[in-house]
Amino acid sequence: MTSPRVNLLDFDADQMAAYVAGLNEKPFRAKQLMQWIHQRGVADINDMSDLAKSFRATLLDKAEILSLPVIKDEHALDGTRKWLLDVGAGNAVESVFIPEDDRGTLCISSQAGCAVNCRFCSTGHQGFSRNLTAGEIIGQLWFAEHLLRNDPEAIRRVEKFPTPGWEHTGRVISNVVMMGMGEPLLNYDNVVSALRLMLDDRAYGLSRRRVTVSTSGVVPMIDRLAQDCPVALAVSLHAPNDTLRDQLVPLNQKYPLRELLDACERYLPFAPRDFLTFEYCMLDGVNDSDIQAKELVRLLKNMKCKINLIPFNPFPESGLKRSSAQRINAFAGILLDAGMVATVRKTRGDDIAAACGQLAGDVVDRTRVRERAVHKAEIELAEVDPEEEIDEDLHAEPNEHPIEWLKKLK
Ligand code: SAH
Ligand code: SF4
Repeated sequence: MTSPRVNLLDFDADQMAAYVAGLNEKPFRAKQLMQWIHQRGVADINDMSDLAKSFRATLLDKAEILSLPVIKDEHALDGTRKWLLDVGAGNAVESVFIPEDDRGTLCISSQAGCAVNCRFCSTGHQGFSRNLTAGEIIGQLWFAEHLLRNDPEAIRRVEKFPTPGWEHTGRVISNVVMMGMGEPLLNYDNVVSALRLMLDDRAYGLSRRRVTVSTSGVVPMIDRLAQDCPVALAVSLHAPNDTLRDQLVPLNQKYPLRELLDACERYLPFAPRDFLTFEYCMLDGVNDSDIQAKELVRLLKNMKCKINLIPFNPFPESGLKRSSAQRINAFAGILLDAGMVATVRKTRGDDIAAACGQLAGDVVDRTRVRERAVHKAEIELAEVDPEEEIDEDLHAEPNEHPIEWLKKLK
């Protein structure tokens, strides 16, 4: 029986070097492979013309370059593009390309579904299926970058609004945000492998400040990220006190605000440009009052940060409403008057449901979160009992399953 081929997208630079050494090839072959795959977007090993024929033959036998199959490719009127990607077993995830005047941002997913189950998030409502592999995560960038390089519309935008220092690379994607489906810090090892490739000059060569990890607040992993790969950090806050945050972001019950903010303080010296972003989803009548804005000021007044107010993007089962534009402005006004840096996120790709929190992909829910949470108009928790819910086959995952991981921390 032939053994399955390895996916070369799964390897960061060190892992590629180790793989090539295992095939008794010289170290520079690893660098060549990285360049063919990540810089030139070549998927066919036969096309890697400067590799020796014998090496190519070995690779053809043992390896492949495989990104996720595209199920759907949607274009929004504002240039936003969304891909629905097949991750097998009835699961799909989404990536979104957001062209802006001075940058091209790709929003990528880290998990099929999400176990954190935030009250206002469509991904959370779908429940959790599995972690994406490093190859499936970096494959989203690999695929989008090389596809868009041949897209006249994307190229036109880059040429019209060149990002300083970017115009000579021929690249279209200048920024990556881990704000798609899933909680990146609950798929830590695979996410860090993918982040390393994003930053590696032999691959995508993005600077740390152009790569953002967004987290709902997995405190121990924030500390590890500071050591392993300190990219820009965005923390999903959404509430100025524990009582409300416990309900909106259930992970807060494990890592309350004080612990989370302490971890943020510890991350700051490692963060690019020494500041963090806090995301705050504006929910009508839930977290958007003047009193809550003042509470938020008190909470964050000593932190070097920017607060990004995200107008809630509704989805049918949420039972929640977006705050009005006037309310968002009044809330932002209180933050600005107190000397904080605050912005309101522009909603993009509305017509193709590509905005924050609308990414739902298609997930076979192994946690039954959806079944439990759906139709609840009141803000209350849909508890996931890890003992009861976990499927046997998930134990075989290369990385720790997030629910297992949460269980250990109990
Ligand atoms: N799991 C990570 C990253 C993915 S979510 C995290 O929670 O940070 C990316 C951002 O979208 C988060 O700030 C999240 O709170 C926000 N978000 C989720 N659902 C939303 C919705 N329906 N409307 C607006 N923002 C939403
Ligand atoms: Fe998961 Fe983030 Fe959605 Fe919360 S907001 S359920 S952490 S993807």
